[in-house]
Amino acid sequence: MIIVLRPDATKKQIEHIVKKVKKLGLKPWVSKGKERSIIGVIGEEDVLSIQPLEVFPGVEKVMPVLSPYKLAALDFKKEGTQVKIGSGLEVGAEQIIVMAGPCSVEKEKLLIEIAKKVKSAGATVLRGGAFKPRTSPYNFQGLGEKGLKFLAQAKKETGLLIVTELMDTRDMASVEKYADIIQVGARNMQNFNLLKVVGRSRKPVLLKRGMASTIKELLMSAEYILSEGNFNLMLCERGIRTFEDYTRFTLDINAIAVVKSLSHLPIIVDPSHATGKWGLVSSASKAAVAAGCDGLLIEVHPNPEEALSDGAQSLLPENFADLMKDLRKVAQAVGRKI
Ligand code: PEP
Ligand code: MN
Repeated sequence: MIIVLRPDATKKQIEHIVKKVKKLGLKPWVSKGKERSIIGVIGEEDVLSIQPLEVFPGVEKVMPVLSPYKLAALDFKKEGTQVKIGSGLEVGAEQIIVMAGPCSVEKEKLLIEIAKKVKSAGATVLRGGAFKPRTSPYNFQGLGEKGLKFLAQAKKETGLLIVTELMDTRDMASVEKYADIIQVGARNMQNFNLLKVVGRSRKPVLLKRGMASTIKELLMSAEYILSEGNFNLMLCERGIRTFEDYTRFTLDINAIAVVKSLSHLPIIVDPSHATGKWGLVSSASKAAVAAGCDGLLIEVHPNPEEALSDGAQSLLPENFADLMKDLRKVAQAVGRKI
C-alpha cells in the first residue's frame, strides 16, 4: 500500500509514520518526490484495518497497490528513477547511456584496444563478461577473477565505467569490487538468491529480462532487489523467444513503453543478443532509442571471427562508431542526447 503525504508534511510527521509502520511489523520505504513524498508499505497489510493510517498528521490518503510488484510500480514513484553510476553518469535522465565492449573479456591488450575505440566513439561504460553463462559446458566459460582485473586495467586507462555479469553469489565480493554496474543475466533473472544478494548491495544493478519471461515477471524480479533496499536498478530488454528463428531472439520493442507505463525504473536495450546478427544491430538500436530506452548495451569486437563468444552479433569498432553518429540524430529527434 502507498501512503500519500500532504505537500506540507513535516520531517517529524514522516518519521512518526515510519516508526508506527515499523512497529506494526511492516516495511516502510520513503520516496521523496518534487511536490510531495510518499511511503510505500510492504508486508501483511491486514494489520492496517485495526490501525488506520489516514488519521496520522501529514497523511493525505492511503491507497492500495493492486499490482503484485509494489516498489517497482509507477504508483510508488511517479518520477522516473535516475541511477547514478560512478561519479558523473546518470541513467534515466536526458542522456542515453551507451555501454559497449566484447561479449567476453579475452586478452588484456585486446580489451584495452576495444575500450579505447568504444570510448572514442562515445560509449561511457565498458561491457565484458568475466563469468559467462554458456549454453554448452564445453564452450569458453570466461576468465573469472583474471577477467575482472583486465576490466579494472581498462577502466584505469580509459576512464570508462564497467558493467560485468555476476552469476554466482560466491563471486559477489569480487564482482562488487571491480564493477560499477553488476549485471544479472537473462538466465539468472529468477535466481532469487542472487537477486537478494545484489539487493543488499548499493551498487547499480542491470537486471536482464529472461528469454522466456513476461514483463510482469521481470518486474517481480526487480521487486526482489528493491525490497532488499537497492534502488540503483536498471532493467534490460534483451530479446525473447518467439516462433521466429531467423533472429537469435525477438527484440520486444513494446517492452520499452510497457515498462515506462508500469514502472519508474530505467530501461536499457541489448540489440546484440536480441538479434544475434551484427547486420541487424544498427536498426534494432535506432528503433530502441526512438521508442524511448534509457541506454543500450552493445557487443563490439575488432575480430569477430576469432571472438571467444558471440562474434556473429558483434559490431566492428568502425561500425559501432558509425552507429553512434546515427543514434545521436535519432536521440535528438526524440528529445534525448547521446
Ligand atoms: C551478456 O550480456 O553477455 C549475456 C550473456 O546476455 P544475456 O544474459 O542477455 O544472454
Ligand atoms: Mn554475449
